[in-house]
Amino acid sequence: MTTPPIKTRFAPSPTGFLHLGNARMALFCALWAKHNKGIFLLRIEDTDQQRSAGQYTDVLQEDLRWMELAWQEGPGVGGPHAPYAQSERHGIYQNYFDKLIHNGQAYPCFCSEQELALSRKTQLAAGQPPRYAGTCTHLTTDQVYARLAQGLKPTLRFRVPRNEQVQFNDLVRGPQGFNSNDIGDFIVRRADGTPAFFFTNAIDDALMEVTDVLRGEDHLTNTPRQIMLLQALGLRVPHYGHVSLILGADGAPLSKRHGSHSVQDVRNEGYFPLALNNYLARLGHHYDNNDFMDMNGLAATFDITKIGRAPARFDLAQLNFWQQQAIIHADTEALWAWVGEAVRGLVPTDQRADFIDTIRTNITLPRDAVVWAHILYSDPLPLSDQAYHIIQQAGPAFFENALQALEQHPNDFKAMAGEVKKKVGASGKGLFQPLRAALTGELDGPEMARILPLLGAARARARLQAVL
Ligand code: GLU
Repeated sequence: MTTPPIKTRFAPSPTGFLHLGNARMALFCALWAKHNKGIFLLRIEDTDQQRSAGQYTDVLQEDLRWMELAWQEGPGVGGPHAPYAQSERHGIYQNYFDKLIHNGQAYPCFCSEQELALSRKTQLAAGQPPRYAGTCTHLTTDQVYARLAQGLKPTLRFRVPRNEQVQFNDLVRGPQGFNSNDIGDFIVRRADGTPAFFFTNAIDDALMEVTDVLRGEDHLTNTPRQIMLLQALGLRVPHYGHVSLILGADGAPLSKRHGSHSVQDVRNEGYFPLALNNYLARLGHHYDNNDFMDMNGLAATFDITKIGRAPARFDLAQLNFWQQQAIIHADTEALWAWVGEAVRGLVPTDQRADFIDTIRTNITLPRDAVVWAHILYSDPLPLSDQAYHIIQQAGPAFFENALQALEQHPNDFKAMAGEVKKKVGASGKGLFQPLRAALTGELDGPEMARILPLLGAARARARLQAVL
């Protein structure tokens, strides 16, 4: 028997914008498939019609495409197991409900919400883990018909086999074992007729021939249920791997105050997809290689055994580091497009390449480029408090000399600064900081030797005069 090719899947529920935690799962799945020359499948888990919205389905696909996570099977591209939206698969699920009912592996349950809540409360009070107490397990056919005749709408519960050890080898966490007696009979179809997540998710993984299910560890306790369900139906059980969740750098669950956390936010701020991918691929997964990599590079050494078990920490500084790497690796034209209209309106077209290359290592997001475009091309120049202070300290004689030096060397900062040094005797910070402060309004930034030619002699002269 030949082993089937690796098939991974991303199975989002379209109830909101794609969160960075989910985006990382999608990336891991895509990289693992690519690493194995396998298939990455996308399935939309939209059976909960009240919470799902078509808008989110569209945006999440756009987000995945933006992240260069192309799926080889799924919405838009099709495949042998279409349709790939669960809302279009009700007929398929019906067959399996019928099979479970026919084999006595599922039964209708008429317990009301109140009855279930009361039972949970009683069990908790007795120090027991709450699970279905089994009220409707043994209803006779007559009892079922009588309740249906009263207009009661039952849920359908899976009859969990008793006294079984459910064991599996988690791809990330190693051997796992559960006792089926700890698991109550669970709902596979809601009273309104819609299938439950446990059910559709497991059935589709089997029918779509997914081999490796990588998902968040919040699903770990669902896995024994899903394995029992698949075994009851004679369907193939995939390998499961549960990945730890992402926490903020402070150890608290990721939230708004840790910065942007949806793919939409990150995109809108101007992060590059490969910056995000280089970051997320290292969040809870270890590469020996610390270079900035493209998707092929990231996939080549992606290794499921290098996914950590501890929760990963989200760190904006790390994301920004990879963004700066992406900027360093981007070509000038791509950056010119990326900086946006506000910059293109300020920078003379013939200086665009020089401008981009001058600021390249000093920016993280387009808004930083806007700041530099204003510094270089608009007046009057605002001075930061520190710049103002340094200018005050240097005093007028310094800038009189700087003006004369500029006339001698209007395009050559090194020569100009050398001239000032000769005249006023300043050196090091005492020489360069006042010049930078007067010409840019800041104490940090790109090399002055590159800035001066972009400013041009006239603007530089005006700025030195202005501080005088
Ligand atoms: N639709 C589920 C979710 O978004 C999928 C979980 C899984 O990957 O199995 O949480």
